[in-house]
Amino acid sequence: MKFADIPHHSSIKARLSAMAAEGRVPHALLIHGPSGSGKFMLARAFAQLLHCQNPGPDGEPCGECDPCRQHEAFNHVDTLYVFPVVKDEKHKAPVSADFMTEFKEFVSRNPWMDFDRWAASFDKKNAQPAIYISESDALRSALALTTTRSRYKTVILWLPEKMNEQTANKLLKLIEEPFADTIFILVSNDASAILPTIRSRCQPLEATRLPDPVMARWLAVRFAMDETDALALAHIAEGDMNRALRQSDATSVTRLFWDMFVALMRKSYMRDVAGLRDWANDLTALGREAEIKFYAYCTRLIRENFVYNFHLADISYLTRDEAQFSRNFARFIHEGNAERIVERMDRAAADIAGNANGKIVNFDFAVKMIMLIKS
Ligand SMILES: [Zn+2]
Repeated sequence: MKFADIPHHSSIKARLSAMAAEGRVPHALLIHGPSGSGKFMLARAFAQLLHCQNPGPDGEPCGECDPCRQHEAFNHVDTLYVFPVVKDEKHKAPVSADFMTEFKEFVSRNPWMDFDRWAASFDKKNAQPAIYISESDALRSALALTTTRSRYKTVILWLPEKMNEQTANKLLKLIEEPFADTIFILVSNDASAILPTIRSRCQPLEATRLPDPVMARWLAVRFAMDETDALALAHIAEGDMNRALRQSDATSVTRLFWDMFVALMRKSYMRDVAGLRDWANDLTALGREAEIKFYAYCTRLIRENFVYNFHLADISYLTRDEAQFSRNFARFIHEGNAERIVERMDRAAADIAGNANGKIVNFDFAVKMIMLIKS
């Protein structure tokens, strides 16, 4: 992986390249910043650069030497990965090495490192992956044993905030009395949750969120997406590429939600109570989780339509279909009802989350919309 393959972060890339070129690499680096901004890719590109036999004058690894190829294939002998894992019947003292095959597969599919997706990949339901105490012992022996073929050994540690205090203290010892030329690269979504003693041992590099246009360009290229749609998607994702990707995975779901939203507004406007009853039943049939997501989706559309009235083109983020609909619909959403509609939606979602009867909640909500849309 080259830095050029990662969007944004030009100042971090420049600093990492300079460190490698000057041979002044701190023993521990902490790349931190919001989730889905590409930090793990920066860490991997940096480790590759440190091991590359022919780094370019542009500060990039060559991509062709043996170490570069090993990095690309995820099997560079002097690069260790530590990441949160799950304790279960089979793994009573789990370590990252037990899950390396799964992790490689995960990283190649999710270079933006979607933690929720990683957590969901374990068999155990509702697992909360963590870095356990067993990890620090394993890491100590791995560092002692690894044959050094290159000048540096690198340890890429994903999510140090998932260590408990005991584990963190043991890791701290490894960082404090470093094995010769071992470089720790910590990659964190939440630096404030890391033990301060560890944080203070690391040279911090703060990654900023991806700007909307940068994310939109990346999405547009990868998915041959229309640029307006990509920008709308980037805006919704608030700088988190994982959110954008989940959203685009869910494009078909969004299409369904969109149809349901339009149907709701049309039937409310027409005072079509029988139609609204059918609508409520259709929504209930989607299941609790989808119903809650649907209300969150509607909340966003109400807000965007409210903003649309002010003709603030650049702060209203709607896809083309949505924008077309809003030309006629937005005037029905105004100071007098926008907040109350959103409140009703939030309440319906909360009731459904609290196991209320969906058919009743959804129908009750739909009937209230008749009043709200006319007020
Ligand atoms: Zn190389």
